[in-house]
Amino acid sequence: MKLRFLGGVGTVTGSRHLLSDDNHRLLVDCGMYQGVKNLRRRNWAPFPVEPGTINAVVLTHAHIDHSGYLPALVKNGFKGKIYCTNATHELCKVLLPDAGYLQEEDAKYAFRKGFSKHDHPEPLFTEKDAHEALKHFESVHYHETIEPVKGFEVTFTPAGHILGSSCVHVHHRGSDRTVVFSGDVGRQNDVIMRPPEPIQKADVLVCESTYGDRLHEDSDPDDELAEIISKTAARGGIVLMPAFAVGRAQTLLYLVQRLMAQHKIPKMPVYLNSPMAIRATEIFVRHHKEHRLDQAQCQLIDDNTEYVRTVDESIELNAKRYPCIIVSASGMASGGRVLHHLKTLLPNNRNSVVFAGFQAPGTRGDSLVNGAGEVKIHGEYWPVKAEIYNIGSLSAHGDYREILDWLSQGKLSPQKVYISHGESVASDEMRKRLRERFGWDTEVPDLFEEVDV
Ligand SMILES: [Zn+2]
Repeated sequence: MKLRFLGGVGTVTGSRHLLSDDNHRLLVDCGMYQGVKNLRRRNWAPFPVEPGTINAVVLTHAHIDHSGYLPALVKNGFKGKIYCTNATHELCKVLLPDAGYLQEEDAKYAFRKGFSKHDHPEPLFTEKDAHEALKHFESVHYHETIEPVKGFEVTFTPAGHILGSSCVHVHHRGSDRTVVFSGDVGRQNDVIMRPPEPIQKADVLVCESTYGDRLHEDSDPDDELAEIISKTAARGGIVLMPAFAVGRAQTLLYLVQRLMAQHKIPKMPVYLNSPMAIRATEIFVRHHKEHRLDQAQCQLIDDNTEYVRTVDESIELNAKRYPCIIVSASGMASGGRVLHHLKTLLPNNRNSVVFAGFQAPGTRGDSLVNGAGEVKIHGEYWPVKAEIYNIGSLSAHGDYREILDWLSQGKLSPQKVYISHGESVASDEMRKRLRERFGWDTEVPDLFEEVDV
């Protein structure tokens, strides 16, 4: 069996891994590149393998950097099935058409403003392409073993990162070898998600390294959030929380409601301004057995959050001047409705902007948390006067200590470990740490490298 690294190398986006033998090809994750222009440009390069020759795809989870290229793959000739857990499937029904819509909007915007190099900028794929891709999806239960491609047996186990997220175990019958892909790995003590299930067996492990060189702060997110919100409300400001529609948005809404119920912050309106996050929240409530919150706790979010669905409501919300909390996507402020709020709120020192998770280099979120004095939004520069926070302890990724502890919980003795899904420095640090702690043979692969497994 061969393993080829088609993406997610030296970066946390564009995750794509290809397993193959003489007769078949199985793609594990099919992510889009996000972040700096150089990376995003890679989305436009022809897929490194002819899509029509791939027999099936399996997904670790729904985040766009793991699933977002699927509509383009189908558009370019992929004919097989796409397998994932039920919750991942549900979330992809929301995320992929939205990604298509955004691609179309971006192309139209670039055409109107004339800042594209092309006379007629085309979207990478459309909302219609996304719906086409969704017809290829098949849901699978955790721990159920399927054979998506002859000779390749696949099992999903919970990874604790977001709803439906999994580690993907692939057993190749012919060679009797098992390759395990960690996918994105969650926290040992997340507010909402249960910890990732230990991996018991792997001949080869492909491990993420988003926080390979960093530890999360030990601070209690409750206290930190309570202080920021109370301080901002006291000076009559608005707290804006850019959040990933899936995962962090629900965590933030729950924390805010709990703080209010405990009288740790003043009562004020809470708005969720992202149609996608609203639908993701509905899925999150429906799948409450897959996370820590019971129905009553989900209800607390649902009853007390004002969902902002239409564009008119969104514009109206942007005109508000009294203390309130706005949760809006996207999480790295790279697009979506949050941009309009940033333009209104950043220039005023009464307001606060709270990020809650990894900010990929080159994104607006990254510039803001690193103290930029101004940021460019929709072609214009906006001064940053508002207070900017990044609550690291709210990340949906385990840091290196958590991942090492998690790996030590299984009975693992892999012959080889490949480190993926990290900035170069983070991946290399993770490589060294795994070798030091377990004595494993670890390596950071090159992009497009193919290895025998
Ligand atoms: Zn993810």
